[in-house]
Parts: sequence; structure tokens; C-alpha cells
Amino acid sequence: MTRPITATIRLSALRENLATARSLAPRSSIWAVVKADAYGHGLLPATTAFAAADGLALVEFEAAIRLRGAGWSRSILMLEGAFGSEDVGLAARLGLSLVVHDVSQLPWLQAALPAPLDIFLKINTGMNRLGIPVEQVRPLYRRLVELPSVRSICLMTHFANADLPGGADQALLQFDRAVDGLPAVHSLANSAALFSLPGAHRDWVRPGIMLYGASPFAERSAQQLGLRASMRLHSRLIGVQHLQAGDAVGYGSAFVAPHPMRIGIVAGGYADGYPRHAPTGTPVAVDGVRTRTVGRVSMDMLAVDLQGIQQAGVGTEVELWGDQVPIDEVAAHAGTIAYELMCALAPRVRREVIGLGESLTDPV
Ligand SMILES: *Cc1c(COP(=O)(O)O)cnc(C)c1O
Repeated sequence: MTRPITATIRLSALRENLATARSLAPRSSIWAVVKADAYGHGLLPATTAFAAADGLALVEFEAAIRLRGAGWSRSILMLEGAFGSEDVGLAARLGLSLVVHDVSQLPWLQAALPAPLDIFLKINTGMNRLGIPVEQVRPLYRRLVELPSVRSICLMTHFANADLPGGADQALLQFDRAVDGLPAVHSLANSAALFSLPGAHRDWVRPGIMLYGASPFAERSAQQLGLRASMRLHSRLIGVQHLQAGDAVGYGSAFVAPHPMRIGIVAGGYADGYPRHAPTGTPVAVDGVRTRTVGRVSMDMLAVDLQGIQQAGVGTEVELWGDQVPIDEVAAHAGTIAYELMCALAPRVRREVIGLGESLTDPV
């Protein structure tokens, strides 16, 4: 029969989280960020839930082609821009907006195109990843304005520290100084800035992680932020072991029972996307009761403490993350962030999408 591990994707949660983003920045247009297969949720199902977004932002051209094929007719923004000149022609044909983050991308815009492009000029304000230096903003802006292939220019930046109190203040100042007086719309805010920096909302916000019901902050939970988990990873117990004091569990015998224990073996491991770095004590819920993992996570299985959960046996449901166990908590135990866990969900995990009323081509 089917291996029980399943990721349940709730479109209603995606929709509600988008509405939360809207209410935080009511005067801004929203790019719903759907890179990395909509943070592991599945591009097309997630997109049906984001029908109220003003545009979708991502980095993969193949995915943009799929979105157009599925009937998404509103804006699409390529967050890393073109990777070669051929991408610019593709963008013009499909009506994709392009980030320009490096002068090397400018010559590609000089070709004759079937339609002019909306350009997002990305400015480096301290992330030092992508973006032109602040002192080049004015000359590059002027060059872009003169290109017949450029229809509009949005000035944008991406904050390195919007999740820390005051962490983006300096970058915001730098941005405003660099663009002072230039007639253009702005796009600055990721999820963290949407919550913490209203002065950065401007014309287009770019929420990602908050749409998927996880917190962009280490110190504030998704629940505190009013977000709903959109992905629930769950499986079942496929074995039960009775340990005596001194018995060990799993590879490396990393956990040794201090007293007699009942433990459950869950069909789910790192080949499913559950983090191997999750140590003993990582929260998990068995039959709705919170307990902990014990021992090392292996490729296809992990072990959980069944103390106090007498009713649990083979077949009992286990939530690895979702409602009783926020994904942010699992990530924190494993020394990572919810983004990585969502994106690492393995292809072999069955996806169950709840709320897919209409066909994909309908609402998108
Ligand atoms: C991924 C990304 C976002 C979304 O960030 P979250 O932290 O997930 O809200 C916004 N802008 C850019 C440029 C990105 O690459």
C-alpha cells in the first residue's frame, strides 16, 4: 500500500495569509513570491490560492512558462532577472517583468523586442548579493529610460536584516538617498519588512514565507503574527519497540533509554525532507499529543517517545509539522529555518491539496 507520509497543502491558509499581507499593506500591490515550487507547496496549486495577488515573483523561467500555460495573465516578476540574452526575448514574448541587478544584463535589453519590458532595477543596500551600487543608480536609471525596450522602471532593493529590530533602517535610508527625485515606483519589503517596517511598503511588497504560514522572525511565532500553517507533514507509526533501561535507538545508538520506554517508529526520514539534524527532543505530535523524537533521524524512519500516549500503536497518526507542531519549532531544533524545510520536501512525499475546487486553468 501507499507509504503513509503525506504533505497536506491547505489552499485556504494560503489565501488567508495573502489577505493578512494585504491588510498589513493595504495601499501596496502584492507580488506573491512562488519561487522554489511555491516554497515546496506546488506551483500551480499555490497559484490558484494566490488569485488575489497582483503578480507572482519567482526565479525559474521554466516555472514562468508553466504559469502562463496554466492561464496566469497578470504580472510575473523574475527576481534574478535574465541569465542570458535569450531570456530577455522570452520575457518579452511572455510579458514577464525582469529584475536588472548587474550592468552585464543591460546589453541584452538593447536588442529589438516584440514588446517592451517592465524593469525592476535592483539596488544593493548592504546585502552584497545582487544589486547595483548606490552610486550607479542615477546613470543606470538614465540609460534604462532611454532604451526603447524598457516600458517602465521600478526601483527595488532586498533587505539583509529586516527580521531584526531596526535591522533595515540603514538600508532604507541608503535606498531613499540613492533614488531621491527619480520618478519611479518602489519595491522593498519581504515578509519581515511587511510586518516590521511600514515605511518600506511603498508600491509593491514581496511577501514569501508569511504566505506559507511560517514566521520570518526568530522571536515571534507564526501564531503571534496571525498566520496559518499551509503545509502539514504527517505520517503514521509503522512499528513499536519496548526498551529496557540502557537500550539504544537507531544509528550510532545516539539515544539510550534511561528507564523502560515505549517508542514508536514513524515512516518518515531525511529522504522525505525531515531534517537529519533534528536532535533528540525535537517536537512531534502522536495522535494529537505533543511528544519528542529520540535518536538519529534515518533515511526512511525516525523514532518518537510514546510515554503517556498509551493509545498509540502501529497505524497511529503522527504530525511532523503543521498544527500542533509549528514548522518553525522543528526548524529551530534542527538549526535551520522553515524556508529550508518547506523547500526540501522530497518528491516522494505524497501531496494532498485541500481546497482545489476548480480546475487549475480556471481561476489562475
Ligand atoms: C525570496 C524573496 C522574497 C520573499 O522573501 P520572504 O522572506 O520569504 O518573505 C522577496 N524578495 C526577494 C528578492 C526574494 O528573493
